[in-house]
Amino acid sequence: MNIFIMGAPGSGKGTFSSRIKEEFNLNHISTGDIFRENISKGTELGLKAKAYSEKGLLVPDEITNKMVKDFLSTLEDKKNGYLLDGYPRTLDQAKAFEEMTAGTDLAVEKIVVMDVPFDELTRRITGRRTCKKCGAIYNIYSKPPKVAEVCDECQSPLTQRKDDNAESLKVRLDEYSKNTEPVIAYYEEKGMVSKVDASKPIDEIWPVLKEILKK
Ligand code: AMP
Repeated sequence: MNIFIMGAPGSGKGTFSSRIKEEFNLNHISTGDIFRENISKGTELGLKAKAYSEKGLLVPDEITNKMVKDFLSTLEDKKNGYLLDGYPRTLDQAKAFEEMTAGTDLAVEKIVVMDVPFDELTRRITGRRTCKKCGAIYNIYSKPPKVAEVCDECQSPLTQRKDDNAESLKVRLDEYSKNTEPVIAYYEEKGMVSKVDASKPIDEIWPVLKEILKK
């Protein structure tokens, strides 16, 4: 099964991606995670992405498309398909992806959009904390760790993403409205999109999402 998970920053893509990946045994990439990893390691890709990403701007398409193409090339022998989290975010990326996968069994089959009203996202984003070691995600308002700023699972210190502040969020939401909503509209016209009300609690969303993906 080949899936895109889409949604504004803070809509729950990361949280549900880990559940989907485990439940359906999929190969997963988050383009945002790859950029962050490369930025923190100071690689060539990281240096190219840093200035954009830390301001909340989208990284140019040619850089992002190349990264996704490299990911696809690792999938040739793998079964079960993929879950792409945070890609495509522009119409040019969507078209590039279609070209990359034309005539292969890597074309996207299902697209889920995590739908949350923009005014709810600020609390989610500014309260978000993540564990770099095991990937667990917390929110200091709605899902605090037992000990402040420490991961419940592996006791590592929690970190806050550099772009998780009110100023960057505004830029990221503008990018989403301008560039990514047209991508969703493009796939909606093709009848490929399932929207999920992601403003509900996680345990209410998960069965709905699972059902959509099992259909
Ligand atoms: P995310 O973790 O998905 O919120 O992504 C964090 C940041 O990584 C974004 O604000 C962009 O700067 C960059 N990024 C992630 N995915 C893409 C993409 N598909 N196209 C361009 N930039 C991206």
